[in-house]
Amino acid sequence: MSAPVVIVGTGLAGYNLAKEWRKLDTQTPLLLITADDGRSYSKPMLSTGFGKNKDADGLAMAEAGAMTEQLNAEIRTHTRITGIDPGHKRLWIGEEAVPYRDLVLAWGAEPIRIPVEGDAQDAVFPINDLEDYARFRSAVAGKRRVLILGAGLIGCEFANDLTADGYQVELLAPCEQVMPALLHPAAASAVQAGLEELGVRFHLGPVLASLDRQGDALQATLSDGRLIPCDAVVSAVGLRPRTALAAAAGLDINRGVMVDRHLRTSHANIYALGDCAEVDGLNLLYVMPLMACARALAKTLAGEPTAVGYGPMPVTVKTPACPLVVSPPPRGSQGEWTVEGSGRDIKALCREASGALLGYALTGAAVQEKLALNKELPALLA
Ligand SMILES: Cc1cc2nc3c(=O)[nH]c(=O)nc-3n(C[C@H](O)[C@H](O)[C@H](O)COP(=O)(O)OP(=O)(O)OC[C@H]3O[C@@H](n4cnc5c(N)ncnc54)[C@H](O)[C@@H]3O)c2cc1C
Repeated sequence: MSAPVVIVGTGLAGYNLAKEWRKLDTQTPLLLITADDGRSYSKPMLSTGFGKNKDADGLAMAEAGAMTEQLNAEIRTHTRITGIDPGHKRLWIGEEAVPYRDLVLAWGAEPIRIPVEGDAQDAVFPINDLEDYARFRSAVAGKRRVLILGAGLIGCEFANDLTADGYQVELLAPCEQVMPALLHPAAASAVQAGLEELGVRFHLGPVLASLDRQGDALQATLSDGRLIPCDAVVSAVGLRPRTALAAAAGLDINRGVMVDRHLRTSHANIYALGDCAEVDGLNLLYVMPLMACARALAKTLAGEPTAVGYGPMPVTVKTPACPLVVSPPPRGSQGEWTVEGSGRDIKALCREASGALLGYALTGAAVQEKLALNKELPALLA
């Protein structure tokens, strides 16, 4: 039998590529390898699961067995690849060599772990997949108080979801505003005010000095000396694209595994997409870019080399306490911000000197303007 196309990872990138490719090629052998249980799920649902009262099983859309049928593929679950040998077109699972026709890296990004002093490090939960979510849900069952580390998009979404579900949430981050990498300060203030009104308490500035057990509960000590009693800690301090195995195999890496517009790495027959990939200089950890990559790469794998293009990619942040849509200006662009509105309803627009729209942050009632503004936004990869 000829060597299969091998996809490493069964997240949204791996499964969507497999689905798109199977529309074009139903017969070439396909092998998916995943470190997890291979259930198909939509990761953005992890940060709305409490409000919707869904446990991990409730969020899963299909078991690996059903995906095997649907994709006419073999899926190896709970299997971690440990090396790549591009010269011989094979990868390693421990001592086992697995040949490939083409290899696709869709192995995602991993949560950054900050070192925590104290005796309660095991009470810090990153939530980046279904299994993390299941562990966190069982840890907070019957508990009330959650401390969130990180004021980025994911920290704010969990703050909204957990508070709306009745938890008392404190959010700690060493920055001056929420989502500093994404948001104009006026929009950040609106989102923070919405979350505060819901009940979230913010501690922006200090860091976590230590986390210790106190009986059944925990005590967080902040760097400014404040003490926060809590029952569990969510770590949402950022994600780092997985690159170590690619680097060890001699592939070019930068922030992510570097690929060109055809999703080709620096080695023939090895491709990458999703959170692990840096596509023509852009490492965007969102769903829309990976869907565009999946469609393009499916065609390439089916024999029609196709470059990916990114249109505008606005992100809807799931903070219903203050609705937010954001499209940050392209990196390196020069523009001036103008801000209209007040309170929760902020329209912050970034335009270049010619008047062309580069990006925006819309909150509250202003999110209604997104469709009209999206037509003016520049493509991210034209
Ligand atoms: C809480 C949360 C909310 C989000 N909300 C949004 C949103 O609203 N909108 C949006 O656009 N984006 C959102 N995102 C981002 C979006 O979900 C991700 O960009 C996307 O799901 C990444 O998919 P992926 O397939 O690249 O990676 P992953 O889903 O992380 O999949 C990686 C896969 O690789 C496997 N793997 C890793 N290492 C190995 C190995 N060595 N061997 C074998 N298998 C391996 C893993 O088991 C897994 O199957 C959110 C992210 C989070 C965490």
